[in-house]
Amino acid sequence: MTDTTITAVEPYILHVPVTGNMVQDSTHTLTHWGVVGTKITTASGIEGYGFTGTHAHLPSDRLITDCIRTCYAELLLGEDACDVQRLWHKLYGYPFVQWVGRTGITHLALAAVDTALWDIKAKAAEQPLWKLLGGATVERLEAYNTDGGWLSLDAQTVANTCRKLVEQDGYRGVKIKIGSDDPRADLKRIELVRKTIGSDPTLAVDCNGRWNLTTMLSIAPRLPDYDILWVEEPIFYDDLAGHVRLSQAMATPIALGEQLYALDNFRDFIAAGAVHWVQPDMTRVGGITEWLRVADLALAYRLPVVAHVGDMGQVHVHLSYAHPAAARLEYIPWIRECFTEPIRVQDGYYVRPEQPGAGATLRPDAVEKYAKELD
Ligand code: MG
Repeated sequence: MTDTTITAVEPYILHVPVTGNMVQDSTHTLTHWGVVGTKITTASGIEGYGFTGTHAHLPSDRLITDCIRTCYAELLLGEDACDVQRLWHKLYGYPFVQWVGRTGITHLALAAVDTALWDIKAKAAEQPLWKLLGGATVERLEAYNTDGGWLSLDAQTVANTCRKLVEQDGYRGVKIKIGSDDPRADLKRIELVRKTIGSDPTLAVDCNGRWNLTTMLSIAPRLPDYDILWVEEPIFYDDLAGHVRLSQAMATPIALGEQLYALDNFRDFIAAGAVHWVQPDMTRVGGITEWLRVADLALAYRLPVVAHVGDMGQVHVHLSYAHPAAARLEYIPWIRECFTEPIRVQDGYYVRPEQPGAGATLRPDAVEKYAKELD
């Protein structure tokens, strides 16, 4: 039997350029995506990889790798990497760490570790993760593309790019960013994109939490004119009461979850009827272990799951193929060249991964090219 005793925990930080070297949404400007994680090695030589996604800010990225190196590593060495659930709770419940943060930095660090453990478990079983989790629940997983809809692009460029994505590349859906200073400009942007792509493709819009309830309510009646699939993060992330009021007043469904860090937060939003499309991100909710719990919760409420891709889909493609609540998956190609099996979309559908593991294994040349010093 393969010896999966953990012998080494080695964090890493990569900063990878985004498309066109700069993108903006209503609240962020990005030049790079941070791939911040850890390699975990076992006695038999299996190397597990796991990471969280960041905005590539080196000082805060180092808080995550420091948490792995100085707090979590000693809890992992000598343990069996395949005891994933037990180790998740060992790290999550570690009093000294839990006391300083049950979410945020410590949870992002936990996500990286948990993913590396699942990666080892799947590699030891010689199966891609989706198969280890019970097999694919759909023949083909639909992809929707977000990378043409940035707020830093003018409306005509967004519309033209979205048309190319649906007409030439075969996407059945796109998402564009909104949430500028003038909501009327956003409505014009939405109108132009809908007119340009036609009525068939799905169109989602993402406000990144920028507007308040008043602004959102003022444009909500116009959205049905453009057949919007969902409004993502319409108002501030933690405002549960506001989302409840908005969901009662707005005909367009609400999507959120990328800034919810724990099962408990998802329970509160789902039980209150404040969300329609559930968007957990395994890089933020403490990894695959907690993501699966959130997806199960959504399933119990018969709500669709559309993961937010802090991993740019590398691991979520496995989870989304395997989980019956997963309805489609976002596609952004920024970091795919870093991995031994990059995500791939063909005719608008994600290609099912074949390599054993969780899809997070780094290519040595990518590490060479993008690695940052840990201190
Ligand atoms: Mg979003």
